[in-house]
Amino acid sequence: MALRFFNTYSRELEEFEPRDPKRRKIDIYTCGPTVYSRAHIGNFRAYIFEDLLQRHLELRGYKVHRVMNITDVDDKTIRGAREAGVPLSEFTAGFKKTFFEDIETLRIKRADEFPAATDQRYIDKMIEMISTLISRGLAYQAEDKSVYFRINKFPDYGKLAHFDLTQLQSTGRVKHDEYDKEHIGDFALWKAWDEEDGEVGWESPWERGRPGWHIECSAMATALLGDQIDIHCGGVDNIFPHHEAEIAQSEGCTGKKFVRYWLHCAHLLVDGQKMSKSLGNFYTLGDVLEKGYTGREIRYALMRVHYRAPLNFTWDGMKEARESLGRIDDWLERLREAAGDKMVGTTRRGARSAQGADATSQFEGALDDDLNISAALGFLFETIRETNRAMDRNEFDAASANAWLNWWERADSVLMISDSENEIPPEVLKLAKAREQARLAKDWRKSDELRDELSTRGWEARDTKDGQKITRRAGA
Ligand code: AMP
Ligand code: ZN
Repeated sequence: MALRFFNTYSRELEEFEPRDPKRRKIDIYTCGPTVYSRAHIGNFRAYIFEDLLQRHLELRGYKVHRVMNITDVDDKTIRGAREAGVPLSEFTAGFKKTFFEDIETLRIKRADEFPAATDQRYIDKMIEMISTLISRGLAYQAEDKSVYFRINKFPDYGKLAHFDLTQLQSTGRVKHDEYDKEHIGDFALWKAWDEEDGEVGWESPWERGRPGWHIECSAMATALLGDQIDIHCGGVDNIFPHHEAEIAQSEGCTGKKFVRYWLHCAHLLVDGQKMSKSLGNFYTLGDVLEKGYTGREIRYALMRVHYRAPLNFTWDGMKEARESLGRIDDWLERLREAAGDKMVGTTRRGARSAQGADATSQFEGALDDDLNISAALGFLFETIRETNRAMDRNEFDAASANAWLNWWERADSVLMISDSENEIPPEVLKLAKAREQARLAKDWRKSDELRDELSTRGWEARDTKDGQKITRRAGA
């Protein structure tokens, strides 16, 4: 089956055709974090969906060039720096660092570029774009010295969000706090400096000031990826006004269609409400790690539901994620034993047996279909049930086991949920090493004590012919 994605712009499932099918190279732009606090796991749901998208496209032979911006100047970052009494760059640096650590913990592939809005190169690009928009009558400087986009002059404004803007029509200047704008929906491109901004500001042809959030993304996307890009992603809350504004600004400058496919993920919810900073109902990655969950468990929990379906975050859901991964781990362990001596080098090409080829097409076919992860995982667990049954009956030979291991390697290059040594928390590793030493010294009492200690922390030490193996204790 050909790849197809749900395009927010058309509200339809569309067959995926990159801009340049011959080169099989795809550009993706993803809206990144605003670094005024540590990202919450709702944000990571969006980044994990984007990671799944990139990895699947790569599995399908595309070369992906991805840009994720870092918003390091806006109202929230400025306020945070002011309250902390430190310069803006110092305030955001710590959150940037944590963000990169968090994406590594969640096995999210790093983007090729992480442009920061405060980089002078992009500030220059923003100023250039705003000047172009003014010269084309698409933007104006208001009495408050800020520059606004004139939405009435961009007939497509509202097409992405499928909004009827006549409802927003105003007949004259809107009074009160919007008094400077011609239309209530006009959005700021350049915000004139005010006292609250303190040290933050850049010189511009209009007034010292700072960019609006929307122009940051248009400038960084076009500066790094050109006037047109294949795929642009974000959470559904980005559709309006952020992405709508990005289209207006970018197309207003270039006259070319900015994005071919707009993909948006539904929210991570808590008790039916969007997980968000403002509602205070959020968990950071650190909060969930502290409860003893690992990065791969959190990754799995945030990934297992189709990206367009809302996902409710619960601790029971985390437990289920752990159980599901335990089943996969046990299955792989059994397959490795069954593959035994005949285990040959695995290959990225995947399983070669007829059964393997069919499995590959079922699993990958599900992902081709708008990243249908639920169907792909459904197939995986059905496979686990069937192959386990065959192994119980001793009807499984080493070649089949090997074929499934090869199949798994390819599937996991997208899922990225295999168990790995690195996932064992450092204090557990320390106990395991100590136990190994105790066994070498034939100090069985100490070895047993350490086994108990590991067990109370939810880990099981097993002694195999290849040495000690540490796994999560069932039911832990
Ligand atoms: P922000 O830092 O608020 O700009 O958000 C960064 C990214 O996370 C954007 O793509 C948002 O759409 C996305 N996002 C924010 N909250 C959630 C949530 N509860 N569930 C899924 N994605 C979210
Ligand atoms: Zn953006």
